[in-house]
Amino acid sequence: MTTAGALLVALLSALPWALAVAQAAPAVSAANAAATADARVVFPERVQQGALVLGKVPPGSRVEYAGRVLRATGYGTVVFGVGRDATGPLRVAVTRPDGSRAEASIAVDPRDWPMERVDGVPPKTVEPPPAIAERIRREQARVTEARTRDDDRADFAQRFIRPVEGRISGRFGSGRIYNGKPGAGHSGMDIAAPTGTPVKAPAAGIVTFADPGLYLTGGTVVIDHGHGVSSNFLHLSRIDVKVGDRVEQGQAFAAVGATGRATGPHLHWGMNWFDVRVDPLLVLERE
Ligand SMILES: [Zn+2]
Repeated sequence: MTTAGALLVALLSALPWALAVAQAAPAVSAANAAATADARVVFPERVQQGALVLGKVPPGSRVEYAGRVLRATGYGTVVFGVGRDATGPLRVAVTRPDGSRAEASIAVDPRDWPMERVDGVPPKTVEPPPAIAERIRREQARVTEARTRDDDRADFAQRFIRPVEGRISGRFGSGRIYNGKPGAGHSGMDIAAPTGTPVKAPAAGIVTFADPGLYLTGGTVVIDHGHGVSSNFLHLSRIDVKVGDRVEQGQAFAAVGATGRATGPHLHWGMNWFDVRVDPLLVLERE
């Protein structure tokens, strides 16, 4: 783990939590100690690119980040994602139930994104003909739509587990060169495992997308963990769930495969906060 990674884990471990937040509101009197504790707004001071960030606000607060009003749990937990190319400081505006305001300022530590060469993928998946390109756009739009959901379930707050055991064969954020042609950066984490290996839900959720045959991603499942946080699982050889099903953490719901643009059997596990892709490895490392 990088020093920055260790720092992030340490920071997240420290929740909930004692990190400084710029207070725009006047200090609350010492006589009102319980209210003071309840009025805390707590976010990490720094995060890495690709992080899924948890914060704590007084229950009932209005929380705004990146032009969005964040849903908060009954305990005041909020979550948002930091993109691969995000730069700080990130600002979270909080209006407490009593009308007082606070703003959290969060620094973003940049990461070095390696370049990965992927040779031997089917050429038709690297330079698809126009009719196929249109099909890919339609399929991507359906997956994107599944990620717009904002449920009040707090499954995202579980401690995530690996969906499959195995060697990490591809990392989030790497630049990708497919058969010598630059492609989009890698949007998730690849775990090498034999075809047919059961894929387990890393956290509980609701299945919002399931299709055995997308052009690029093959057998594809999206599980929604609530508050805009979702996982996607690609290249599956088998899918045992349908849209609307509830899956519990650790439940096997599909099998590893090599469908779509893949050179061999592996699980691609991606995570999103709405349309922002985040790094599953950082979520796993969250204590
Ligand atoms: Zn992948």
